[in-house]
Amino acid sequence: MAEWQDLGANTYVLATEPLRLNIGLVVGDERALVVDTGQGPRQGAEILAAVREKTELPLVVVNTHAHYDHYFGNGAFAAAGVTEFYAHENAVAEIAENGEAHRMAVAEAEPEMVSGEGEGARIVVPTAVVRDQPVLVDLGGASVTLFYLGRGHTDGDVLVGTASTLFSGDLVEEGAYPEFGDSFPEEWADTLRHISALRNRYEHLVPGHGGLCSDAFVRTMADTMATAVRSARQATRETPDDATKAVPILPYGPEQSRLFIQRLKASSLS
Ligand SMILES: [Zn+2]
Repeated sequence: MAEWQDLGANTYVLATEPLRLNIGLVVGDERALVVDTGQGPRQGAEILAAVREKTELPLVVVNTHAHYDHYFGNGAFAAAGVTEFYAHENAVAEIAENGEAHRMAVAEAEPEMVSGEGEGARIVVPTAVVRDQPVLVDLGGASVTLFYLGRGHTDGDVLVGTASTLFSGDLVEEGAYPEFGDSFPEEWADTLRHISALRNRYEHLVPGHGGLCSDAFVRTMADTMATAVRSARQATRETPDDATKAVPILPYGPEQSRLFIQRLKASSLS
């Protein structure tokens, strides 16, 4: 596993394979906070071991959203005695309802998730809930703000702000197309603009996956998405029976473009 990168103000990031998932760590005087836990008990245990190289303090966990690669490692942390897991209320509901159904997603890398064997393979549903109001987590000598800016990559994406860094979860992804499967594309573009407006408060922006991002990167991601929403809407108006006509004109890969159109239609109906 790669080394922790020091982002200042007791904030660290660890890039993990195979998905270039970023794990965050903020170390206070009394407690430390971990951002996301990986895709199962194996990766969760690796992440926990890396955390323990930095600090022996009691831990608090935040799951940025309800996708398996961000919370299936919770069991490894719970097995080690962690009890405080934060997530947005919609992510909590999603994990509680559908967490079990996603176990097969990691069948190869995390076979224990399939059998459900062992404490580390439990689906741990967060009980510390973030709603519309920001939540301040006091770590002793350092605090972290958990907040929600509206729907985007999912309907329950929590951002994590430290004195130096903003962890955006998958609202921002570097080096890959955005993942639209559970997204709300139109609102996502607005949420990205909001993130961009906050950027001067933070020295660093850590995306859910990939390398650290500049402000310009986030603005471009927002503009690209807003333009894609307009193009897809126009194409859908011109050929209402075949929305997939818009796929080639969208700035994403074919698979992501199909999901984008699907989600755009679904969210404009709701
Ligand atoms: Zn995700």
